[in-house]
Amino acid sequence: MPSGDLHTGVNLLALVGIAGPLAALHVAQDLLLPLAAGYLVGTLLITPDLDLAGHVRVRARRNWGVWGDLWRPLNLFVRHRGVTHTYVRGPLLLLGYAGVLLALPVAALLAVDRVLGVTLRVPTPGGPLLAAALAGYLIAYWLHLWLDGYRPWNVRRW
Ligand SMILES: [Zn+2]
Repeated sequence: MPSGDLHTGVNLLALVGIAGPLAALHVAQDLLLPLAAGYLVGTLLITPDLDLAGHVRVRARRNWGVWGDLWRPLNLFVRHRGVTHTYVRGPLLLLGYAGVLLALPVAALLAVDRVLGVTLRVPTPGGPLLAAALAGYLIAYWLHLWLDGYRPWNVRRW
């Protein structure tokens, strides 16, 4: 099984191999940038190996900096190379977990906003941008699984 550094290196090289031809084909930057951003999130921040975050300091957990310990509880209910190393359930679980993590500070900000009476404006990206970011995230995630030796035609890995 590849090391975390090898996963990161292969994913970053593949990003060049994906984004280069798309740019050459004149795919709009408005889609390329969120695709690349989602891909980088799937490569550097929210990876299948966060299932090890409670045991060792995996690179993705380190990349979260002081927030890395927020991923530790994940391994209380998943085992390494279990559900996080599946093609559909894994990304859904990790994105849901990240959503909960991000919802906490947003709720705190909204509470402060309500107390102070300040109107907080949060930019909300449109559907195509979110779809491009999700596609980028999934490509990075699925490349990780492929390198780990898990193939999408194994239905148990969905
Ligand atoms: Zn892995």
